Amino acid sequence: MYARELVRPITELKGVGPRLADSFHRMEVFTWFDLISHLPRTYEDRQARKPFSSGYDGTPVLTVMEVIAHQYIRYRKGRALKVIVRDATGPAALLCFGRNFLQNILIPGKQFYFYGRGSVNYGELQFSSFETAPWTADEPPPPEFSHILPVYPLAGSLTQKIVRRAVAQLLRSSVRYLEDELPRYLADAHGLIAKRDALRLVHFPKSQEDIERSRRTLAFEELFYLHLIIRRRALKRSRLRRDPRSYSTALQKKMIKQLPFTLTSGQMRSLQEITSDLGRERPMARLIQGDVGSGKTLVALLASLPVIEAGRQAAFMVPTELLAKQHAVSSADHFESMGVRIALLHGGLKQSERQLLLASLKQGDIDMVIGTHALFSQDVEFKDLALVIIDEQHRFGVMQRNALHHKGEVPDMLLMTATPIPRTLAMTVFGDLDVSTIDTMPPGRKPVITHLASEASRSRVYQAVRSEFERGHQAYFVYPRIEQKEGSKLRDAESMFSYLSNEVFPGITGGLIHSQLPLETKESVMDAFRKGAVVYLAATSVIEVGVDVPNATCMVIEHAERFGLSALHQLRGRVGRGSGQAYAFLIYSQELTDSGKQRLQVMKQTSDGFVIAEEDMKIRGPGDLTGIQQSGFLRLSFSDLVEHLDILKETLSAVQTILSEDPGLLTPAHQVFLNVLEKAPPFQEELIDS
Ligand code: ADP
Ligand code: MG
Repeated sequence: MYARELVRPITELKGVGPRLADSFHRMEVFTWFDLISHLPRTYEDRQARKPFSSGYDGTPVLTVMEVIAHQYIRYRKGRALKVIVRDATGPAALLCFGRNFLQNILIPGKQFYFYGRGSVNYGELQFSSFETAPWTADEPPPPEFSHILPVYPLAGSLTQKIVRRAVAQLLRSSVRYLEDELPRYLADAHGLIAKRDALRLVHFPKSQEDIERSRRTLAFEELFYLHLIIRRRALKRSRLRRDPRSYSTALQKKMIKQLPFTLTSGQMRSLQEITSDLGRERPMARLIQGDVGSGKTLVALLASLPVIEAGRQAAFMVPTELLAKQHAVSSADHFESMGVRIALLHGGLKQSERQLLLASLKQGDIDMVIGTHALFSQDVEFKDLALVIIDEQHRFGVMQRNALHHKGEVPDMLLMTATPIPRTLAMTVFGDLDVSTIDTMPPGRKPVITHLASEASRSRVYQAVRSEFERGHQAYFVYPRIEQKEGSKLRDAESMFSYLSNEVFPGITGGLIHSQLPLETKESVMDAFRKGAVVYLAATSVIEVGVDVPNATCMVIEHAERFGLSALHQLRGRVGRGSGQAYAFLIYSQELTDSGKQRLQVMKQTSDGFVIAEEDMKIRGPGDLTGIQQSGFLRLSFSDLVEHLDILKETLSAVQTILSEDPGLLTPAHQVFLNVLEKAPPFQEELIDS
């Protein structure tokens, strides 16, 4: 039996009734396997005795004590037992508020094991929370007073003791019989221990070394399988073949000539890489990586022209309706004279409009459809989908990405991201995507000047923005919330919109924009902003992705400390798109700690998306980078992509070696992989993209 086959519910454990089960459920612990993979958040070392005399500075005491006397003290709720005790080094007092029943247990003259963290009052060492167990001369101490103990994340009515007991129950019974999921030779080569030992020792270690070896074993195994699944699918995909097509680039060349500017060298290179991939026997899977504002969208539009010229179709998927609309408008501008037929599919369409659109898409009367995840509804059918473009791909779940992929007969796939992904992670998450990098910015862009300002100097920020207005420029004000929430001091877009328009900038037209507004409202506000009729926007981070208004030169972000660095970078990327000097003002709360301020300093010091992403990853983990943890598709039980970066690399190369020698996993030692993947896969394969 493999660990993941322990699917029985935790209620089938002694002592876990509906109420405790509820608390476990709140931590996503449903099954026996969930419980054994509920790892301690830290450990408490109770191996060494620490007498009362050492407890005066707050060190936890672990000792054998004798009960001397009972006293009672008066307090608000009545009378509380105070037990006077002593060990070889001196006395202490146990305050038993609400636990007077202890008078029948802690009987004077008897001896007990004792554990607790004390405090000193009037020179007396006092404990108000503590653990005890009867001491007997001829028996070894119970584990709570002699071992390293796990400390678990808790919820609801759970206590450490309850979780420890439940875990111990499983370790004594089922876990002992679990099979290894890696062949012995591999485990030996990488210094891993048996699965059942790893699970036992990760919960109840006897030494620091046990903790390290068990954690390493579990993380290794999990990441090994992650890579195994991804690389196997990558291998399969790399063998996918279809009838090759050759495309003409006449239309593409024509559009490049008509552009009011020339492409940057990075854009040219990427476009060539993509174009030469199109229609090959082996389907394209390529990622364009380039900082905000580097002109990825245009490259993608140009890349679709050969496909369209051949009478085939392209789908352009973007994360928000606002962005879909904007892309539709700008591609219409570019494509108009090319005779390309574009459609925008969004949630706000009337049923009849939608039907009409779907019908033309199916008949091939639409060359390119732009939309959000609405594009992968069941009823969206294509005549001949040849190219799938996914913008800001990290915002989509992997499954969504695949759903569109399956709508065509192995279409080419082009992903775009403004969030640089460290190489190892990219290999992990995307298998063997080819990567094109746009490392150049369109000429004439001046770096955005970034100011940090505390709340107290907000009026000076408003002053600075006002003088930009006087130069005919526009601004964004971004808030972490849409509307006011009771009891919260956070500024929100709605209230600040009315404050800005009534108090700060009377007579200047502003607009409000956030995700809850109907699409038509959003569209008309954005249109007005684009045309300059609306001078500033009060918004949430909906404007984070893709919004492109070159005349906007100010980005004011309030409660900047609430945003991730990558999000701040994206937001800042909304300005500095024209020729005028642009500014970002990051306003932070007065209570912000020094380390919080340091984090914001990174924004002031660099405009390099790579540096910012690395910093962000150090602070928050890669979840947001890859979108994969965030979207919940990849649930790692034992490993962490940042903490275990070394193991990540180690497992990748182990998997590569194995697959190059035995791609079908046919040797007897490798049979176990196929068994595990069939009976108890650590990840659901269809949810992992490659
Ligand atoms: P990204 O999606 O990479 O953040 P966009 O595609 O939104 O960047 O491009 C930003 C802006 O730069 C757009 O207004 C676009 O028209 C413009 N642009 C793109 N390429 C060039 C170029 N080579 N020269 C000048 N402007 C460009
Ligand atoms: Mg973009």
